[in-house]
Amino acid sequence: MNPVRPQARNEAGDLLFKCQHCASPLVVNAAAAGMTLNCQRCGKPTLVPITSASASPAPPQELTDLQRKLKENESQRTEITSYINQLSIQLHRWKLRLQTLNERKTELEEELRKTT
Ligand SMILES: [Zn+2]
Repeated sequence: MNPVRPQARNEAGDLLFKCQHCASPLVVNAAAAGMTLNCQRCGKPTLVPITSASASPAPPQELTDLQRKLKENESQRTEITSYINQLSIQLHRWKLRLQTLNERKTELEEELRKTT
């Protein structure tokens, strides 16, 4: 009635799986394989699979997910910082250009006054 399924267990004898409703990573004792349990997050009944979602005791999905999000955040921040730097330089150039134009305007007005 309770056959041994070694492939379903990690070192701790626990089953790792995801809630069918909210996809929360859940850990239960391997003895609960095939049973229906209420999710710890959303409270809905979810089926405990016979085999573990991760056959090896690798880092849980949640951890790799967080690491991926952190990398994504890092690359986005680098990108935005680069944009801000570029625009700051561009702003500085426009200010210098405007200053030059203002000086030129004063010169031209001066010449105009002389010739009239
Ligand atoms: Zn859930």
